Amino acid sequence: MRTDRPDPLAFLDAELNDMRARHLYRPLRVMASEQGPVATIDGREVISLSSNDYLGLTHHPRLKAAAVEAVREYGAGSGAVRTIAGTMSIHEALEAELAAFKGTEAVLTFQSGFTANTGVIPTITGEADLIVSDALNHASIIDGMRLSKAPRRVYAHANVGALETVLAEADERGRPDGAGPYRLILIVTDGVFSMDGDIAPLPGIVEVAERYGAAVLVDDAHGSGVLGRNGRGSVDHFGLHGRVAIQVGTLSKAVGVLGGYVAGSHALRDILIQRARPFLFSTSHPPAVVEACREALRVMDEETWRIERLWTSARRFKAELARLGFDIGRSETPITPIIVGDSEAAIRFSERLFEEGVFATSVVFPTVPLDQARLRTIVTAALTDEHLDRALDAFARVGRELGLIGAR
Ligand code: PMP
Repeated sequence: MRTDRPDPLAFLDAELNDMRARHLYRPLRVMASEQGPVATIDGREVISLSSNDYLGLTHHPRLKAAAVEAVREYGAGSGAVRTIAGTMSIHEALEAELAAFKGTEAVLTFQSGFTANTGVIPTITGEADLIVSDALNHASIIDGMRLSKAPRRVYAHANVGALETVLAEADERGRPDGAGPYRLILIVTDGVFSMDGDIAPLPGIVEVAERYGAAVLVDDAHGSGVLGRNGRGSVDHFGLHGRVAIQVGTLSKAVGVLGGYVAGSHALRDILIQRARPFLFSTSHPPAVVEACREALRVMDEETWRIERLWTSARRFKAELARLGFDIGRSETPITPIIVGDSEAAIRFSERLFEEGVFATSVVFPTVPLDQARLRTIVTAALTDEHLDRALDAFARVGRELGLIGAR
């Protein structure tokens, strides 16, 4: 027996030390309050520009009350996966309401947006198919593709011409094993790209997809609640109802709770119920989550000022950051990156802002390319003008102090 390796996991320390030396290690910040516009994080009260709580629903009194009531009526947990004993009437009700919201025949919920992608992509694609993916798609899409037996091609980010080249080639050559045309070509794209805040060129994507008989899957994690009529998402924003086969969404961002869903046809929902592995092998949402999500949809419908406020604040915040001289990239949505370049500088910028009472997280490699480290901010509907003014003041002061913008 070998006894010369007392700790077989000792290499983990070496890896962590290496990350620290390269400024790629980021400790977790710990929040002791609710996810409000001002939160208590690591013992300090800060203006939060780092949540995905677009509409300020995470702490909405009506969602909290719905969750409490659900616990009283249905208990704390669901007790099983959906296919065994874990499908409650409230799960089905939420799905019907989401389908009405998205304007699709049917919806199936998953435990998270992540599992929605890793559930749907490998379920509907196999060896006879081709997946064509935007270069900047979310990690859950990438993992979903890895779990599929289908070959995949990646096209340059948001580049419809590059997508068309891939489709034309696939159409001409067919399957690599010479077995004729692909059964399904599935184009997959984020609706809103989560690190840059730009919107996918969906009209162009749908147009070339239709020309080549391909289906489109849009992951609207950052589009739902933000784009389209009352936050119905990017498909609604571009008026493409009926032309996008699959919409993936999350209940963890604008909806303010937890979960993901796949919206599409009845057949799509049915096949996912039979085959999608996170659905089959992982327990369903507890009642509090389901009822809070249902209440969120009602609040979104009634309190339309939230999405309006979100956009007014986002436009103002972006314009001010650009005026100060920051590089805010190609964002078109309430996600505003502040691109700094070097990861050490991004981490330092975030830390100094934190000391000044503003929480804007740094995002470094591997989430973004090595030389594109940034702060990623999201303005939410819960922030007041006064919060925004204070945050912008801090950005100006710290930005000048660190030489990221010129003195004025
Ligand atoms: N897709 C995209 C584009 C996302 O940004 C995220 C969350 N970061 C997800 C999916 C995963 O959603 P969830 O947090 O609900 O798992």
